[in-house]
Amino acid sequence: MNTAFNLDDYIRKVPDFPNKGVLFYDITSILATPKAFRYCIDSMVDIYTDKTIDAVAAIEARGFLFAAPFADRMQIPLILIRKKGKLPGKTLSKKYQLEYADAEIEIHPDDVPSGKRVLLLDDLIATGGTLKAATELIVQSGASVPEIFGVVGLPFLNYAAVLDPVPIRTLIQYH
Ligand code: 5GP
Repeated sequence: MNTAFNLDDYIRKVPDFPNKGVLFYDITSILATPKAFRYCIDSMVDIYTDKTIDAVAAIEARGFLFAAPFADRMQIPLILIRKKGKLPGKTLSKKYQLEYADAEIEIHPDDVPSGKRVLLLDDLIATGGTLKAATELIVQSGASVPEIFGVVGLPFLNYAAVLDPVPIRTLIQYH
């Protein structure tokens, strides 16, 4: 892995998106740059190769983009956590609060390996509300979440307190 690589160079900062006053960290510029995308997946594989991770679960939609190549490289199962109404099989669902609205996510509990350690992954960790609800879905499905991973972290939004006691790891943080 190239340790001099600066991932920040490949994250587009978009002011006032989706609302005025919000600075959006856009990862499409990582995906559009093969060496930046490769850096992310290589880094994730390096971090988790010697840790006991039995499966990875990812949040729709941007989380899928990082989780799919990671799951393939690690040769572990990939579990999808989707917005309500998208998964066709038997589902477990969880409602949670967003800043201005309610949201609901779902999982196929039959896809979750019972008693195993599932890494939970998203592109960016903001308030942690979505990942908190996702953690509950995985635990209700009979597995554990030993760690949560985000490519980008915004720790000033206090996600650590929301996700406590699950440890969190990110490739880059903004303050
Ligand atoms: P939460 O506040 O629940 O942690 O984040 C909600 C969802 O919005 C997550 O899936 C997260 O990835 C996404 N999100 C929030 N802010 C940003 C941002 O600045 N950039 C990107 N790429 N995603 C964001």
